[in-house]
Amino acid sequence: MSGDGSQYVSQQILGAGLVIAIDGPSGAGKSTIARLSAAELGTRFLDTGAMYRALTWYALQQGTDLNDPAALAMLAASISLQVEDVPHAPRVLINGRDVTALLRSEQVTSMVSRVSAVPGVREQMIARQRQLIKAAQESGRGIVAEGRDITTVVAPDADVKILLTASEQVRQQRRQGQLGVGTDAVSARDLADSQVNNFTTPAPGVELLDSSDLSEEETLEAVVAIVGRVFKARHA
Ligand code: C5P
Repeated sequence: MSGDGSQYVSQQILGAGLVIAIDGPSGAGKSTIARLSAAELGTRFLDTGAMYRALTWYALQQGTDLNDPAALAMLAASISLQVEDVPHAPRVLINGRDVTALLRSEQVTSMVSRVSAVPGVREQMIARQRQLIKAAQESGRGIVAEGRDITTVVAPDADVKILLTASEQVRQQRRQGQLGVGTDAVSARDLADSQVNNFTTPAPGVELLDSSDLSEEETLEAVVAIVGRVFKARHA
């Protein structure tokens, strides 16, 4: 998007350290829309799913028993997880190794829900996510953070909270259209993830954005418009 809308909004929010939280099911376009919104708005970008994926990749690599919650929680507490929260080239490094390109494999995708369901793992990840969000907020840069529990658990006090959804059919199609993703049983993964967090109905104060009939560009415009509207209302 190169319209005046985003330029205007990005100038308005400059230095305000806004926290923009976007949740939603898989295939709703969250990662792309959140990353593009962050780029348009000049904020940081946090893909929290990538953190759970990175831990899953590492657990598989180490041969950790994925049915052992204590072992997974210990692994989460012990790894050095470095998240570079910049929208133009977000990266995740584990113990110094850049694992970004390895996170969307079929194996990681099929196992990640098991790892992310472990309470001890979530505790570690949420603490790390809150640190990143706080740093972006305090620097005045602001952040767009996306996941399943950002609007409800990680940053319920975020300035802007959006639940981005799309019909199951559209989400499945979008997932299949993504290169290098392999087969992703979107509905099975959502079902598993929804045992841990509710990301299908918006919590109070969360705006519902249904992208089923919107192009990527239109969805991005809608997100930027919500940010602009919320910011304006707050400073009216
Ligand atoms: O968004 P993405 O598909 O990359 O997320 C991968 C997985 O990470 C999800 O299926 C879910 O199990 C987990 N996740 C989570 N909480 C978040 C973000 C992702 O449990 N905030």
